[in-house]
Amino acid sequence: MAISKVRIEEGCTACGLCEETCPEVFKVNDVSIVIEGVDFNQYEDKIKEAAEDCPVEVIKYE
Ligand code: SF4
Repeated sequence: MAISKVRIEEGCTACGLCEETCPEVFKVNDVSIVIEGVDFNQYEDKIKEAAEDCPVEVIKYE
């Protein structure tokens, strides 16, 4: 399934794990943000891994 949207819901603790897993898509400052203009499908596996590994489960994709 192609990924068309990635977002971070409220509650990110800025642990930095998603950026470590997929720095092409996630950037963590005060909270994690999704970098704009990225072709998510190129990083599908890493986005899914980051979402699964997020300790507070706030990474959502569709
Ligand atoms: S893994 Fe989750 S809690 Fe950690 S920085 Fe990323 S979105 Fe925030």
